[in-house]
Amino acid sequence: NPRLVLVLGDQLTLEGAALRAADKARDVVVMAEVRAETDYVGHHKQKIALVFSAMRHFAETLRAEGWQVAYTALEDAGNSGSITGELLRRAEEFGAKSAVTIAPGEWRLRQALEDCPIPVVQLPDDRFLCSEAEFADWAKGRKSLRMEYFYREMRRKTGLLMEGDAPEGGKWNYDAENRKPAQADLFRVKAPQFASDEVTREVLDLVAREFADNFGGLEGFNWAVDRAGALEALDHFIAHNLADFGTYQDAMLEDDPLLYHSLLSPYLNLGLLGPLEVCQAAARAYAAGDVPLNSAEGFIRQIIGWREYVRGIYFHEGPDYTSRNHLDQHRKLPWAYWGGETKMNCLSHAVAQTRDLAYAHHIQRLMVTGNFALLAGVDPAQVQEWYLAVYIDAFEWVEAPNTAGMSQFADGGVIASKPYVSSGAYIDRMSDYCGSCAYSVKAKTGEGACPFNLLYWHFLDRNREKFANNPRMAVIYRSWDKRKPEDRETILGQAEVMLNKIAQDAF
Ligand code: FAD
Ligand code: SF4
Repeated sequence: NPRLVLVLGDQLTLEGAALRAADKARDVVVMAEVRAETDYVGHHKQKIALVFSAMRHFAETLRAEGWQVAYTALEDAGNSGSITGELLRRAEEFGAKSAVTIAPGEWRLRQALEDCPIPVVQLPDDRFLCSEAEFADWAKGRKSLRMEYFYREMRRKTGLLMEGDAPEGGKWNYDAENRKPAQADLFRVKAPQFASDEVTREVLDLVAREFADNFGGLEGFNWAVDRAGALEALDHFIAHNLADFGTYQDAMLEDDPLLYHSLLSPYLNLGLLGPLEVCQAAARAYAAGDVPLNSAEGFIRQIIGWREYVRGIYFHEGPDYTSRNHLDQHRKLPWAYWGGETKMNCLSHAVAQTRDLAYAHHIQRLMVTGNFALLAGVDPAQVQEWYLAVYIDAFEWVEAPNTAGMSQFADGGVIASKPYVSSGAYIDRMSDYCGSCAYSVKAKTGEGACPFNLLYWHFLDRNREKFANNPRMAVIYRSWDKRKPEDRETILGQAEVMLNKIAQDAF
């Protein structure tokens, strides 16, 4: 009997463990576009379009490689609407008794496959450099699971930017050189353009028709949909943007949403690119003298450090991770996150760009939308749902730890040693948003004061007990305590007024 080989939408890798374990002459690859996956959160239109188009292209690649592929398109008659439903349907059609797949990057789907009436073998996803078992070994007995130490292990393991046992240049991390604001530059090289082929055009029509009410526009769709395109994106980044990536990594500009970022996350997460090949390309550019060390190191750290680390945390912490709410925050996500009006220039830009491109870079996610949600006391589950829905690269294993952990401190400090919060001054330093904002970043109180300035202190004050034993927060509390009691009262009172305005979506 044939075995079914389930290939999920983010498992588009020819060398994936399930395909390696299968027999081309006997087994049947199952791929399916199903409502259960498109609808469990309201994904951005471009995200659905990218995943479907990349799946359809990958199915063609598999056929060209000699695989038999049973592909279910969303609108096919008989589509059962779920992954397990499709497995059962195909099992009957081909007389298969079992299936094999790469373990999904999400607890929800792993459970669904375990509950499937036919046995589904879930193989470890060895497209990551650190397996779940290795991560558990690393984590065992450690008091705190900081990324920096994990990252050093990964540098040693991969040999990337190493001189024997020592890090290239003598330091593990060159972030101190990486916090510069950027200037507008008409000559900055733009992202590569990917014209839609017939398959993509068909998918874009399908999404426009079937997901008309989902967040986001399709007009700006400019993503590669196969491995060849993803490799082109990688080459373009290494040749044009990597050199300045490090220095301007944290910068934000109104008219230049992409700056020097790679836009490679969707390809890595779908399996069109592998983490090691991407890092090796960066290391080669450094070795050739084409890019400085701070950029090569910073970029490689994001991938073999952060990306591997957050995945490790997600599976290490268990299925309850996404429902944690350490700071006990329960306010609703403001309508402004879905495009509702706000006078806050930074927030409205980050959201408009997210709507148009399904993309915002790390600092926009962390220090604008994330920072604001945290200061405004928003329920972390709602924040997570938003990030999972709106970004082109959002899959739960990477989205949840970044949102719940790094950004919202909902895990109580598993990932971050202190909350990523700031007043407006940080955004003013790193961006050009404040110049044309209706609020004044310089005003700490009073009508027109930047909401970040008010809410920052309110957040710290209301969470004082939670951070009482956090040495990294002590200085900030000391500076708060040094203020006159009446000034503190004014700030807290005005912050309350602001929180009420936010609750009414009038800010
Ligand atoms: P670059 O800035 O060019 O970075 C290079 C690569 O490093 C990225 O492609 C990505 O693969 C990796 N990387 C960088 N930072 C991280 C990180 N913190 N965690 C994991 N990988 C990282 N990333 C996702 O892939 N999916 C998500 O759903 C996601 N949600 C996020 C939510 C929040 C609240 C925050 C603060 C960050 C989130 N990130 C997520 C991490 C990061 O913002 C994106 O990976 C990055 O912006 C993708 O754009 P890029 O490819 O241009 O990245
Ligand atoms: Fe954002 Fe405040 Fe600057 Fe306005 S003034 S752009 S709200 S940080």
